[in-house]
Amino acid sequence: MSNPLRMHIHDDATAALRERIFDYARDRMQLDPPPLDKGMPYAELRALMPDTVTEKGIGGDKAMSLFGDILAPASMSTDHPAMVSFIPVAPTEASILFDLVVSASCIFGGSWLEGAGAVYAENEVLKFLAAEAGLPATAGGVFVSGGTNGNLSALVAARFDAEQRLAAAGQQRPTRWRIVTSDEAHSSVAHVARVMDIDVVKVPVGDTGRMSGPEVDAALGGNWGDVFAVVATGGTTNFGIVDDIASIVATAKEHNVWVHVDGAYGIAGMFAPSTKPHFAGMDGVDSFIVDPHKWLYAPYDSCALIYRNPSIARAAHTQHASYLDVLTDTDEWNPSDFAVHLSRRARGLPLWFSLATHGVGAYREAIESNNTVARDIAQVIRDSEHLELVRDPMLSVVVFRRKGWTQEDYSAWSDDLWESGKAACFPSKFKGEPVLRFAIVNPRTTIDILVELVDSLKVER
Ligand SMILES: *Cc1c(COP(=O)(O)O)cnc(C)c1O
Repeated sequence: MSNPLRMHIHDDATAALRERIFDYARDRMQLDPPPLDKGMPYAELRALMPDTVTEKGIGGDKAMSLFGDILAPASMSTDHPAMVSFIPVAPTEASILFDLVVSASCIFGGSWLEGAGAVYAENEVLKFLAAEAGLPATAGGVFVSGGTNGNLSALVAARFDAEQRLAAAGQQRPTRWRIVTSDEAHSSVAHVARVMDIDVVKVPVGDTGRMSGPEVDAALGGNWGDVFAVVATGGTTNFGIVDDIASIVATAKEHNVWVHVDGAYGIAGMFAPSTKPHFAGMDGVDSFIVDPHKWLYAPYDSCALIYRNPSIARAAHTQHASYLDVLTDTDEWNPSDFAVHLSRRARGLPLWFSLATHGVGAYREAIESNNTVARDIAQVIRDSEHLELVRDPMLSVVVFRRKGWTQEDYSAWSDDLWESGKAACFPSKFKGEPVLRFAIVNPRTTIDILVELVDSLKVER
């Protein structure tokens, strides 16, 4: 039998490659800290790299060497303790290890028929997340690839629901649907609106950055007729500000409008005692998302998408095709039916395994310790002559200014740190002014690391 891909040939060569890759993964996981590493221009990479995708192949050993020597160092380690820009990721070893198991297990995570065991375990996590929010036990959903897909899928279900209700009442759908969100909401909300061909009403938020129900109503001028959803943010990416979810739910309910909470980064804050109160009102929402790869210590990529009433999502999202009937004509829980996707990796399993390993309590503590570091560095900033805190942190994002610095000063400072491999802390912008921002989701990001960073801002430029 021809076997050009050498499948299941267990000779010395395959064993050696397998061990080499396990060794690499083991060593990488044990680096403390890992090198920060950084990208490089295309032309430089092109000059360093031979052709790799060739008719004859270059062999696994050679490919692995190129990855280890050139490609990996040209990709930032987002788990470096001084990587504080964007939203870093700091997966537990348990979750990384289990990600390898998920790959080796060849599980189709789209249907109960094919993936019952995996889907059962994923659903245990979703059930736990829903319960933490205070949703009823009938709530449920699915892990999708990221917050963008999660927001899209939730809003598609919300619009479907609104249209079903209009149809049932014998009414026409509006010519243009609208959603409402804060003007500090994540860019994915506007993108999803473009994809869905709907309009977005942006609610201006004041100095606090927190959108409330009355502000939503005011932005609409009381005209809710063509609105099918309010998207609240459970922790803005830029500031970690949690909208006033309870008042948004109260206002939206008066108009029978769906409330979705985009908590891709911040809903993890619901697990820590000190930040839990910010999430009052979550028990009244219709859907929410949270990305385990942001602040729940899991590897890329996953987003937990949860619906109060999953049957609406199922009706909105189930794909019908004759070859799928055996999968979809059942009452079983088919993850494919709850979002814009079909084939899927059981990408909730790394979080499941890590939660099962460490217990929820350890997660609460880890998230709380990130909050504590954020509050401590905010106090250091308040106490520093050369610095100014832009807003009090609600979660684990801290935004501040270096008094007297121009955009060029910030960039020069950040480039130096980046070039030296010490830290990734890029200037951001708020209301057109340059600011600095620490996003703290890594237990290895200690207060000492951050104090060193803010001290290095004392220099005059
Ligand atoms: C990161 C983020 C998203 C997008 O999530 P992806 O997983 O990157 O698609 C959406 N909303 C918020 C608030 C985020 O922080």
